[in-house]
Amino acid sequence: MITKQAVFPRPDYYVDVAIVGAGFCGSMVAVHLAQMLRSARQIGLIEKRRRIGPGIAYGTDNPLHFLNVPVGRMGAYPDKPRHFFEWLKEHPDLVSQFHLDPLTEGSFVARGLYGLYLELLVQRCALQSGRVHRFEQEAVDVARAPDGSFRVFLADNTSIFAGKVVLALGNFPPGDPVVSDRRFHRSKNYLSDPWSSSTLQRLSEAGDILILGSGLTALDLILSLSEMKHSGTIYVLSRHGHFPQRHAVVEPYIFHQSDPRKIPEVRLLLRAVRNEASLAAGLKIGWRSVIDALRPHSQAIWQKLDLGERRRFFRHLRPYWECHRHRAAPKALDVKEAMEKGGRLRCYQGRVESIVEDENTLFVKFRNRSQVLGELAVSLVVNCTGPECNYHKLRDPLMLQLFFRGLARPDPLFLGFDVNERGELLDVTGRIVPNLYTLGSPQKGRLLETTAVPELRQQAFELATRLAEDLRKSTRRAIEELPAGHSFEI
Ligand SMILES: Cc1cc2nc3c(=O)[nH]c(=O)nc-3n(C[C@H](O)[C@H](O)[C@H](O)COP(=O)(O)OP(=O)(O)OC[C@H]3O[C@@H](n4cnc5c(N)ncnc54)[C@H](O)[C@@H]3O)c2cc1C
Repeated sequence: MITKQAVFPRPDYYVDVAIVGAGFCGSMVAVHLAQMLRSARQIGLIEKRRRIGPGIAYGTDNPLHFLNVPVGRMGAYPDKPRHFFEWLKEHPDLVSQFHLDPLTEGSFVARGLYGLYLELLVQRCALQSGRVHRFEQEAVDVARAPDGSFRVFLADNTSIFAGKVVLALGNFPPGDPVVSDRRFHRSKNYLSDPWSSSTLQRLSEAGDILILGSGLTALDLILSLSEMKHSGTIYVLSRHGHFPQRHAVVEPYIFHQSDPRKIPEVRLLLRAVRNEASLAAGLKIGWRSVIDALRPHSQAIWQKLDLGERRRFFRHLRPYWECHRHRAAPKALDVKEAMEKGGRLRCYQGRVESIVEDENTLFVKFRNRSQVLGELAVSLVVNCTGPECNYHKLRDPLMLQLFFRGLARPDPLFLGFDVNERGELLDVTGRIVPNLYTLGSPQKGRLLETTAVPELRQQAFELATRLAEDLRKSTRRAIEELPAGHSFEI
């Protein structure tokens, strides 16, 4: 039972499982756990944002920010992929409010609507189970006690005692571009966090804007700008110049020529995918089907590659893989293309050489693949180059403390935490930290593909199952140690 203790340094609250972060991952671990546990176990859900459920991805209220996965595949439960679609059908008011008629499983809907679905799921679960307790705070430190339990410290100087901790931290803002003169990093006209509300407010200012990066987040910003009737020119600069490809109907497909899970080299994998795509084209089947046929196996393929091959993938193939794999809603690309045709949007391929500020203008120099120098003068630069995965570079208080206490270390490629196959963190010496878990993006080093709902819902369910089983075992042990005559429901 949750109790508040008055005296420091005893913890203020007691829970069995503390979950830090209530985006999709943290929220769904809480929902599953609450449904799986039958005893009086308590779950603490710690989230620094106002709402629980939506996280960064689904907290937007812009109707042009679409899901990049069709509704029929976005169900929050692994055994019910159509659950979100069914939920929408039960809410015809929302379907008409968001102009979704006719709603099909292939429809792309606003991400904010998905955020609402998740928020209501967690709220209902908290209400029905009475065991999910919400803390609207930032977790700033996690310390391990000699008995293996944890203290989670919150920004308001309170702390929570927990037997198990789940770090469901999601993605961190992008790292700053590395150039020789880095003074612009401190400029008020350089917006380093594309997901913060202050960035969206600044976009409404007059003047030209440069967006660094051309992934899904850049596309979001372009759509926000199109709605704001922003008057200046929008420039997009990215190293490879690729935007996400367009979603289209995908037919089920299986590899005919080789089994990609058995190919241990990136170069050979690329060749196999290209050959398969030509074979599929001959059968009038598009490349999307070939890429999607790889998806169920991408984690197994990644785990088969040695470290050198994984590095090679990141150096040479990742941008191509990502723009084919993470596709965009057709409506979103229609808006972007119309803006390009109208001259409001100009996209360049190139690498930033310098950004220098002079009297509120940022002067940007970049060089393209043919070594041609380009120059731009803009009022704002927004960084959309993708989340920072090298956790050693982050200034996030919780991350700094985890490393300071030796409770975590980065994976060998600096893509997230070093974890075992159960999602438990490895400490600075490489030993497992029992009962300290993560899921989602922090597992990128181990799994590569650990970003989209179809993967995350499975992870959330599996982690909750493991935690529930551990808790049941410890209750059983405690009962066995009791004198005869006691009986408990577990
Ligand atoms: C812009 C965007 C669009 C996307 N669109 C799609 C899509 O259409 N379909 C799809 O399948 N996937 C999409 N994704 C992928 C998305 O990352 C996952 O689907 C999923 O939302 C990730 O959930 P998460 O819980 O891991 O992370 P997040 O949603 O980022 O949640 C992490 C939460 O942890 C909180 N937090 C972090 N640190 C602390 C702390 N110290 N104390 C307290 N709280 C903390 C954060 O405030 C945040 O709410 C998108 C991602 C982004 C960034």
